[in-house]
Amino acid sequence: MQELTHYINGEMVKGTSGRFTDVYNPATGEVQAKVPLATIEELNKAIEDAAVAQVAWANTNPQRRARVMMKFGALINEHMEELAELVSKEHGKTIPDAKGDVQRGLEVVEVCMGAPSLLKGEYMDNGGPGIDLYAMRQALGVVAGITPFNFPAMIPLWKMAPAIACGNAMILKPSERCPSTSLRLAELLTEAGLPKGVLQVINGDKEVVDGILDNETIQAVGFVGSTPIAQYIYGRAATNGKRAQCFGGAKNHMIIMPDADLDKAADALIGAGYGAAGERCMAISVAVPVGQETADKLIEKLVPRIEKLKVGPYTAGDDVDFGPVITAASKNRINSLITSGVEQGANLVIDGRDFSLQGYENGFFCGPSLFDNVTPDMEIYKEEIFGPVLSTVRTDSYEEALDLIMTNNYGNGTAIYTADGDTARDFAHRVNVGMVGINFPIPVPLSYFSFGGWKKSAFGDLNQYGPDAFKFYTKTKTVTARWFSGIKDGAALNFKAMD
Ligand code: NAD
Repeated sequence: MQELTHYINGEMVKGTSGRFTDVYNPATGEVQAKVPLATIEELNKAIEDAAVAQVAWANTNPQRRARVMMKFGALINEHMEELAELVSKEHGKTIPDAKGDVQRGLEVVEVCMGAPSLLKGEYMDNGGPGIDLYAMRQALGVVAGITPFNFPAMIPLWKMAPAIACGNAMILKPSERCPSTSLRLAELLTEAGLPKGVLQVINGDKEVVDGILDNETIQAVGFVGSTPIAQYIYGRAATNGKRAQCFGGAKNHMIIMPDADLDKAADALIGAGYGAAGERCMAISVAVPVGQETADKLIEKLVPRIEKLKVGPYTAGDDVDFGPVITAASKNRINSLITSGVEQGANLVIDGRDFSLQGYENGFFCGPSLFDNVTPDMEIYKEEIFGPVLSTVRTDSYEEALDLIMTNNYGNGTAIYTADGDTARDFAHRVNVGMVGINFPIPVPLSYFSFGGWKKSAFGDLNQYGPDAFKFYTKTKTVTARWFSGIKDGAALNFKAMD
C-alpha cells in the first residue's frame, strides 16, 4: 500500500510519528494509501525552517515572486490531467468536475501573477509642511492554511497562492482524506522556482491543527471546513493573537418565482444540487418555489431529470454525473438524515438510500434523493446534509421565501430564478447572504472578486482570494516622513494638525 509523505523544505519527507490514517478510494471502499499524521515536533521544525526561508522570500521583489506564479500556472495547466486524476482518485468526483476544481484554483494563481499591482501601497505628497506620508503592505511572516476534503486542488490553491505571492511562507495542512493533490502542487511550486521551505505541506489531524493554533511563529490562519471546526479554530487562533479567517458550512437556498423559466430552474437545481454528490459548500440544497402551482410544476420537471442521473466511479467516463461520497460514515449519516426526514413527515419523492452499483457494492455511493413538503423544523432542513439530497420548502409569497433565507443560520450562497428585474434586484439588495446568484445557481465569484459567506458560514474579517486575500496576507505600515529644508526650528508639544 502506498505510504504518503509530508512535503518539507522542497522534498517529500516520510512521517516519523508512526501514526497514520487511511486514505480510501471512495468508489471501491478500499484503502488505497496511508497518510502520516505529524507530531508537534515535526510541525514545529517545519515552521522554524519556513520562518528562515520567509525572510529571503519577503525580500525577493514582487515581480520575481509573480514570475514564480506564472511558471506555477503554466505547470498546473501542463499537469491538468494528472492533477484531476489525483483529485478524483481520493475524492471520487468525476474527471470533468475534478478539472473544474483545478481550474478554479488556477484562476486564483492567475490573479497572483499580478501581485505587484495589488501590493502597491498608498502615498500622499505634502501632507504637511515638508511632510509626506506613505503606507506599505508587508508580508505577515509564516501563515497557515487548513483545508477540507471537498476541493482538494482549488481550496489549497486559494490559500497558498495569495499567501506566497504576498511574501509569506505557508504551512498547509490539507484534509487527511485527500492529501495527494496538495503534495503534488507543492512539488510543482518548487519546480516553478519557489525557494525551499516557503511552502511546507504537513499532514495531520486535530493534534497538528492545535499545534498550528498554539505556535507563536504562525501569524495568521486561513481555514475552510465545517462550521463547528471553523468556529473552534477562529476562537483559539484569535485568543492566541493570530489573524484568522475561517469559512464554514452552508445551507444554500434557491427561490423559484412563478415567472421563472422552470426548465432552466430545474436544470440549475440538478447541477447545483447533485453535482459532486452535493459535496460543495455552494451546492443548492433547498429549492424554495413560490406558490403551489410553481412547486407542483417544478417537482414534475425535476423528477425525470433526477431519474436520468448516472451515478458511478470516475473511471467509468464522462457520462457519469456524480460519484460516491467521501466515506462510509458520510454515506450512513446522509441515509439516516433522509430517514429522519421521512419520520418527521417530509414527502420523499425519490429515495436514493438503497442505491447499489454492480461491481462497486462496497463503494460509498448514494443515489440522488428529492424531498417535497419540507418544513424548517425538520432535521433535513436544519442540518447541512452534504450529499445528493435536494429538499423543497413550499412558500406562498416572495416575502415568505426571503424570510426563510434571512432566518437561516447559514449565509454562504443563494440564488433566485425570476424574469422580473425588480424582484431580482430587491433580493440581491436585501438578502443576508454573502454570494448571490440571479438566474445563476452556484455564484462562486470569479477570482478577481472575493469569496465568502455571512452568518455561520464565515468567522473573521475579509474574504478569500481576490483583493481581500492581499489584505488578509499583509499588514499595513504607515510612514510619516519630514525633510527640513524651509521649515522653522522649534519643538511642538501639542498633538495638532500637520498643517
Ligand atoms: P472538516 O471541518 O471536517 O475538516 C476541515 C479541516 O479541519 C481538515 O483539514 C481537518 O483535518 C480539520 N479538522 C477536522 N476536525 C478537526 C478538529 N476537531 N480540530 C481541528 N481540526 C480539525 O470539513 P470537511 O468534512 O473536510 O469539509 C466539508 C465542510 O467544509 C462542509 O461543511 C462544507 O460546507 C465546508 N466547506 C466550506 C467552504 C467555504 O468556503 N465556506 C468551502 C468548502 C467546504
